[in-house]
Amino acid sequence: MDGSERRSHAALAEDGATAEKPNWYREGLPHIWLPYAQMKTMTPPIPAVATRGSTLQLDDGRRLVDGVGAWWTAAHGYNHPHLLDAARAQLEPMPHIMLGGLAHEQAYRLAARLAALTPGDLGRAFFSESGSVAVEVALKIAVQYWRNAHGQTRSKFVAFLGGYHGDTFATMAVCDPDEGMHSLFQGSLAPQHILPLPDTPARHDALERLLAEDQSIAGVIVEPLIQGAGGMRMHDVETLRRIRAACDAPTAAGERQGPLLIFDEVFTGFGRTGEMFAADAAGVTPDIMTLGKALSGGVTPLAATLASARVYAAFHDDDPDKALMHGPTYTGHAVGCAVANAGLDLFEREPRLAQIRAIEAQCRAALAPLEALEQVAAVRVRGAVAAIEMAEAFDIEAARAWFIAQGAFIRPLGQVVYITPAYTIEPDELAALTTAMRRFAEERPV
Ligand code: PLP
Repeated sequence: MDGSERRSHAALAEDGATAEKPNWYREGLPHIWLPYAQMKTMTPPIPAVATRGSTLQLDDGRRLVDGVGAWWTAAHGYNHPHLLDAARAQLEPMPHIMLGGLAHEQAYRLAARLAALTPGDLGRAFFSESGSVAVEVALKIAVQYWRNAHGQTRSKFVAFLGGYHGDTFATMAVCDPDEGMHSLFQGSLAPQHILPLPDTPARHDALERLLAEDQSIAGVIVEPLIQGAGGMRMHDVETLRRIRAACDAPTAAGERQGPLLIFDEVFTGFGRTGEMFAADAAGVTPDIMTLGKALSGGVTPLAATLASARVYAAFHDDDPDKALMHGPTYTGHAVGCAVANAGLDLFEREPRLAQIRAIEAQCRAALAPLEALEQVAAVRVRGAVAAIEMAEAFDIEAARAWFIAQGAFIRPLGQVVYITPAYTIEPDELAALTTAMRRFAEERPV
């Protein structure tokens, strides 16, 4: 292990160990506030200077195979020429214009393409810049839908244990209350119903009863098939069908119109689970779907909230008060939408779903045998996601540094060592990642 990886910021400041780091790093480190990090004790980040395909080029000359893909965004690999060309082609004539009062081709084309690509009649797209905001918009649409369409005040949501939907206040309230990193804020969050996923008929019955009885529930939100940030926990399509059925069951008053179903596909969308959307695998169409991450291939921030025809119809009215009053400054960012359109071209032109199937098969062959090890609690593989859950906790910072020393950028979540590679990863690069995971599970080096 590179000793400098393990030294804390405080130690770095004291002993001048940043001397070998670039100037921008040393000058910025005392001023930048990094994500999900105790700045005092964290392992200092490693400076990177370039990306290509599935590799990260470090400032000190090393190259790492990237198992994370820029927080699950770089689905087509880094620097895909078609994405970069699309960004350049948009940047020159018009990097962005506001969508208030003006229109540009890329956002309109993207909205039409997403409507055609997503299941059912999810025909309206609202654009934002992050998954959290896409979920905020989904929640806001659900609450206002009940007022607009039914004159009802419904403000509660049902979400599931193990779930993660973002870091903003409304999204924190629908994350797992204990594991969602936000327990500190509980007192400031609107209380919601957080239930176990209905993975058994008894849990389905409990969900159905709650939805029928509590008339303040506006919607049910779920990460379909894979709960990503909660540790790559997987459930089956039947669970999603049960949730849809519970939303559609008649209420105690005999009404057929139950809470809206929101699929948060920020992580699972665009092939990650092996189908274009998790909704496709389940044959279940939600009323609202959120997308982000792979939508813009790791090149620019972009997210979307899609609404079904029925949901949208509640807003389309002569009454100005029924409009959706939301408008992020960068909504429908022109470069972002151009890149997203180029990403959709790649799904059409390049064999993405076949590549994902090959990744799944290779990961399964390499990792499934580890389930026999006593120190391994579970091995989970689905689509382009592979995870090993260790039976016991380990030093996560030390594990991250150990992986880097193996030439792999892998960042465990809790007790779960996982990869979410680019769909374009080469078999030998993927083998480098799974070999590092296997060694970690077998040898427990930290
Ligand atoms: N929803 C899901 C399922 C996610 O996995 C994430 C991020 O990991 C988010 C929402 C929040 O997205 P963002 O980090 O872009 O705000």
